[in-house]
Amino acid sequence: MSKKIQAIRGMNDLLPADSQIWSFLDSTINNLLLSYGYKYCRTPNVESTETFSRAIGEVTDIVEKEMYTWKDNNGDSLTLRPEGTAGVVRMMIEHNLPREGIQKVFYSGPMFRHERPQKGRYRQFHQVGAEVFGALDAKIDAELISITDILWKSLKINAQLEINSLGSTASRALYRETLTRYFNDNKDRLDEDSSRRLKTNPLRILDSKNKDLEALISEAPKMIDHLDKESNKHFEALKNYLEHLDIPYTVNTKLVRGLDYYNQTVFEWVSDELGSQGTICGGGRYDGLVEKMGGNPTPAIGFAMGLERIALLIQDKYKELFSDRPHLYFLSMGESAHCESMKLSRQILEVMPHITITNDITMGNLKSQMKKANKSGADYAMILGDEELAKNVLSFKPLKGQGVQQSIELEGIIQHLQEIL
Ligand code: ATP
Ligand code: MG
Repeated sequence: MSKKIQAIRGMNDLLPADSQIWSFLDSTINNLLLSYGYKYCRTPNVESTETFSRAIGEVTDIVEKEMYTWKDNNGDSLTLRPEGTAGVVRMMIEHNLPREGIQKVFYSGPMFRHERPQKGRYRQFHQVGAEVFGALDAKIDAELISITDILWKSLKINAQLEINSLGSTASRALYRETLTRYFNDNKDRLDEDSSRRLKTNPLRILDSKNKDLEALISEAPKMIDHLDKESNKHFEALKNYLEHLDIPYTVNTKLVRGLDYYNQTVFEWVSDELGSQGTICGGGRYDGLVEKMGGNPTPAIGFAMGLERIALLIQDKYKELFSDRPHLYFLSMGESAHCESMKLSRQILEVMPHITITNDITMGNLKSQMKKANKSGADYAMILGDEELAKNVLSFKPLKGQGVQQSIELEGIIQHLQEIL
């Protein structure tokens, strides 16, 4: 036997038995975003490397060590997308969309990062993200947060909202100087990673997960105390909206997020049921990015949520959250009955597309087909053999204890199904 080929570590198959939860998540999130006026868009899984290095920032975990990058046959450097915003911004600029007014969009799909695989952290994972272009007011920051809050409520997920403000680009630059001075004065207390970041991106030191740095970081000057007037006003307005919407939050002054492009509002939703992979959604404002990527200055804000982590949180309870599609198992015996069952299935599904019909294709005897019907998890069996055909009826058998077997006229079957399903 030849050697078996395996999938790449951290890149998982979605097995048919587990796919229901993903369809459910997809439709729940899509419907919610559509109902708030967000339109679906899709960008390629592969972009030029520069799309990401310029947008995300050279000195970030993603660009420094997590991207899958290679040269194609022309020598162009290409990258599997590690996140969704950079591509959407590239798309907005390339197609001049912000010129047409405020753009509210969402995307969904795989992202790729070369990380150490563990529970809740994979090398191919899936995100849904939403982005708004052309809106400066904190009302839109609040709307995006509110949409995610509604989603957690509908999925019965318990998550805590953390918010922070990174201020305007100008106030952030001043703060960066203050922070650099502080860490420089305490250089001997920094670890290797942070010493490096001190030169390249000192704000990221605040993000460090090293427990030894905890005290140093909590005593560090805080961005929130260095906001300029406009940034302060924006942050206060956001907090006001959140209070108005009854969305509890905590201000986490250490929240800077891993990507360089953020300014003003940043936020994360964290669940304490997932260990250190607890962040299920993160977002923020990136007012300078469109210009940095070659477009006209356009304020923007967005979020991205990790679907694997959300699926982990609801895997034990999602069956309570939605009802299965009604499932009929169609047994037929004999050539005429096979033909009739296929035709009838088509007619039924034409008027009842929300149900599932499994047409038995084994052509076994009644007993063996019935065994399969029971195993399939179907709600009802419909049985068609010569005897039934002669009388123009089919036998309709509940499989989950919902009554007794009945004989139903073929002509009346759709009406009967509409009454009970
Ligand atoms: P983390 O701090 O957990 O590494 P991050 O800040 O790198 O997260 P973002 O880039 O903000 O993550 O992506 C948004 C969301 O995507 C995260 O909150 C998380 O739910 C999910 N996510 C990020 N990386 C992974 C991964 N490798 N595997 C699974 N989900 C991920
Ligand atoms: Mg990460």
